[in-house]
Amino acid sequence: MRKVYVTLLLWSCCSICFGQKASSRIDWIKNDYPSFDIFYSAQDSSISPLIIEMINEGQKQVTDFFEHPFKHKFSVYVFPSRHDLDLQWQHDYGDTSIHSECWMVASGVGDVLQILSQQVWKNEEYEHNADDTAAMQKLATHELVHVYQGQYNPIHDFTGLDSLAWFIEGVAVYASGQLNKTRMQQVKFKLLCFLIQSQAFCMFARNLKSFA
Ligand SMILES: [Zn+2]
Repeated sequence: MRKVYVTLLLWSCCSICFGQKASSRIDWIKNDYPSFDIFYSAQDSSISPLIIEMINEGQKQVTDFFEHPFKHKFSVYVFPSRHDLDLQWQHDYGDTSIHSECWMVASGVGDVLQILSQQVWKNEEYEHNADDTAAMQKLATHELVHVYQGQYNPIHDFTGLDSLAWFIEGVAVYASGQLNKTRMQQVKFKLLCFLIQSQAFCMFARNLKSFA
């Protein structure tokens, strides 16, 4: 089974209609642009302009970073509920046991970027702030890096590339600008833990705010 590449934002339970494809349950509104098509439901009409703007800006950032354009057009799906996102991932990955965690809000492969409506995030209890447009932009750019990677990799959906996940994710975090001071501290902390091999130190340091 291919790995589900989702954005780890450091920062619902539902009944499952097994085998049902979420995208076919939704009355999609489609906007066609030269480099991508975007699909969203009526409830997300009000936020679609913001998402479109972020996709355009993210494409520019990715192209500037790699100094090379996207290979081809792709689709963007904005899912109106976590249930719908789960159904889609279950269908895509052929695994009906997939239930996205609250920090899983988007994924990207060569031909498609899937994102959970930020209007859903506001109603879920976790640390990410859906009103943080800068963080939202980095999230979009991160997933667009995966789209870009998928377009140039011979394996467009990353099937069988689990051993390269560290590189795939690392490039996406770096290129999207998500590698901030807090995340660098977390990397240093984990490395220090590994080198010292002291459980007591790791437990102590884990409780320090700077390493949160
Ligand atoms: Zn990622």
